[in-house]
Amino acid sequence: MDTLELIRALPKAEQHIHIVGATRPETLLWLMEESGRDAPFENLEEVERFFQYSDFDHFISVYSMVSKFIVDEGQFERVTYEMLEDDARCNVRYVEASFSAPDHVRQGLDYGLMVDAINRGVRRAREDFGIECDLRIDLVRNYGPDYGMEVLNWIEEKGDNVVAVDIGGSERGFPPEPYEPVYNRAREMGLHLVAHAGEAAGPESIWGAVEKLGVERIGHGTSAVKDPDLMAYLRDNGVTVETCPMSNVRTNAVPSVREHPV
Ligand SMILES: [Zn+2]
Repeated sequence: MDTLELIRALPKAEQHIHIVGATRPETLLWLMEESGRDAPFENLEEVERFFQYSDFDHFISVYSMVSKFIVDEGQFERVTYEMLEDDARCNVRYVEASFSAPDHVRQGLDYGLMVDAINRGVRRAREDFGIECDLRIDLVRNYGPDYGMEVLNWIEEKGDNVVAVDIGGSERGFPPEPYEPVYNRAREMGLHLVAHAGEAAGPESIWGAVEKLGVERIGHGTSAVKDPDLMAYLRDNGVTVETCPMSNVRTNAVPSVREHPV
């Protein structure tokens, strides 16, 4: 058995995946048709070309495009089911899926209905592929800590299978420190604590996340390697770094897999 076969055969947990970010090109085409809005693409070839991003800004434009065309809460069922189908194909048995609920609530969708639709997708995928999935709610740091508190209210009202919170979004300009009270409350609510840090910003962003927010896991954390004291801190305190080498190469956070700090 070669290494690739071995990796494929191993049962796995997917710890860093964004529901909207995992949308298939053909599903974006479906969302565009369903929306009844003017769509910038006419066929699958055009969408697939659009999905071939090579830097972070282009990735964000793909992500934003999918977000914009999700106009009905129920559409999350298909998007989630397909994400889990793709994961199951890689022999993933458990997924903690990140859901950037604030993006969609701000576009007028209902939090509870979206979570229900996601979990219809989760249930169908469990029946069809035996895969399990819980949710991590991304507070989306661009909206600020006050909004983060509001998101915690939604989770308090409808916890379902929400097991963790995260701050994704733009690292530059939105450092982790102001989220300290939000994370303190999330901890009291029994949620696991994660933060995207050190992907688009330097080690100081990771320091803020571990020291002020007390996170158990760091999303990406590629810049940690620049700071030996931080590396030692992460190791000594058992902070997991969710490394995503292929994502980092495709968004140009690192130049190549060979040069990835992992
Ligand atoms: Zn991420």
